Amino acid sequence: MDYTRLAELLFPDIDCDIDFYENKYPKRELPEGARVTRLGPSPTGFIHLGNLYGALVDERLAHQSGGVFFLRIEDTDNKREVEGAVDIIINSLKYFNVHFDEGATVDGEKGIYGPYRQRQRREIYRCFAKHLTKKGLCYPCFCSEEENEKRRNAQEAIKANPGYYGEWATCRNLSFEEVERRVNNGESYVMRFRAPENSERIIEVEDEIRGTLKMPENEMNFVVLKSDGIPTYHFAHLVDDYLMGTTHVVRGEEWLATLPYHHQLFEAFGFKIPVYCHTAVLMKIDAETQVKRKLSKRKDPEFSLDFYKSEGYLPEAVWEYLLTVLNSNFEEWRRDNPEADVHDFKFTTQKMSVSGALFDTDKLSDVSKNYIAHLDGEVVYKHLTEWAKECDEEYYHLLTKNPEFTLNMINIGRGGEKPRKDIASWRQSKEFYSFMFPETFKMEDSFPESVSEEDRCAILTRYIENYDHSQVKDDWFPALRAMGEEMGYAPKPQLYKKNPEMYKGHVGDIGAVIRVALTGRMNAPDIWEVQQVLGEDETLRRIKAAL
Ligand code: GLU
Repeated sequence: MDYTRLAELLFPDIDCDIDFYENKYPKRELPEGARVTRLGPSPTGFIHLGNLYGALVDERLAHQSGGVFFLRIEDTDNKREVEGAVDIIINSLKYFNVHFDEGATVDGEKGIYGPYRQRQRREIYRCFAKHLTKKGLCYPCFCSEEENEKRRNAQEAIKANPGYYGEWATCRNLSFEEVERRVNNGESYVMRFRAPENSERIIEVEDEIRGTLKMPENEMNFVVLKSDGIPTYHFAHLVDDYLMGTTHVVRGEEWLATLPYHHQLFEAFGFKIPVYCHTAVLMKIDAETQVKRKLSKRKDPEFSLDFYKSEGYLPEAVWEYLLTVLNSNFEEWRRDNPEADVHDFKFTTQKMSVSGALFDTDKLSDVSKNYIAHLDGEVVYKHLTEWAKECDEEYYHLLTKNPEFTLNMINIGRGGEKPRKDIASWRQSKEFYSFMFPETFKMEDSFPESVSEEDRCAILTRYIENYDHSQVKDDWFPALRAMGEEMGYAPKPQLYKKNPEMYKGHVGDIGAVIRVALTGRMNAPDIWEVQQVLGEDETLRRIKAAL
């Protein structure tokens, strides 16, 4: 077969070879060791945690090495495309402070390696396919859907591997005349890769997370161009990552199965294969079954990135959390460097899990609480009110009615060696802070049962009588202790434990009675601090109301 003739028949409009594009897109000039990574989302309108997780790896690898991170829109699957999806991708990632150096933008693109939207690269893919056709490594396949279905059924009946290969690859050896006749007839066809037959070769591919991968060479005659001339993922990956100078391909482990296709394509062209980083799938423990499973768009609201915005998780906290999932040594680093900028952490693919990364909302909460606990009160005020303005109007009014009060409230337990860790998300803070606002205060817990009703009234009455709002914090507790002692309560819990028959209880019980009266809860921040923020009138009003 004269492959050049075949190539001209199939691609008469393509009048350049691949060197035209190689010259158009020169090799990147970057410092030694710099990595070029890309995010290649499909514009389905749904952007999820898996995308962010991959983006974080891409972003760190590129920016830690002085390299480039770009955005390529992988829109080869027309059916799944949703209008406005590119805006959603860019804006959602921007919310998480993921910035691209290059690539698709909301209203166009930036960079010299474009177009960065795959559908606009049709001519380039066709040129590369023509090149492959000339080498005899690519051929047209006219099989219809019915024929493909028939083949699948026949393969199933004799338990043969499904797919287009070997004797099943019926279009593989069509004569030039046959192809010409069918093309001139206007028959629709796809272009397939001519894979070797009966290969016993084992190929090796470098994966930075998984080490050297060894797998049998591919024998499938997979599709490179669909009937409309749009490439499959495999072919677009080859062409784009080659021309755009990607050095590291970070993608989900679902692509491991077709990695031999990609290896074969890079080899067919004689291109250097990129380093792969196949990330583990995000899993969670199912709340009902307690079984580990993949995060699902349908079942798990936390899979969608919108969730974090609407719940009011700080993007920086989500970022910190993802780092704990991604790098097993991040938490230790954070413990040693509580105030350091997260970008000072040296991210590495060596510390990534290969066996399924476990996503855990409780852990996210902990990381987020810790993050917010270390923020300045003013910063919390700003973020919290910004969020409430957009997502919860009622709460917004409550928070901004008296900004000084709100700021003081936020500052309770903040600062110092051991800041309180109460708030995981802005939405959750509404529930937490409800005790502070007269409008939302309610008695949530009952008084401790260890104190009799009679004593409880006596404690509260005496507390009101002796209340001195100007008392400093250091004097407040000793005064409470003294009051308790007069009433027969041990000044220290240990004393009571040693001689329970000598006391009615201990100072902790006295504190608990006042705490419940003041906050409606058994668990609440420091009583003295809460009193100072609430003010004398509200403090006394609450204690009296509890009587
Ligand atoms: N469009 C592909 C996906 O969404 C990208 C995979 C890759 O990064 O190579 O899975």
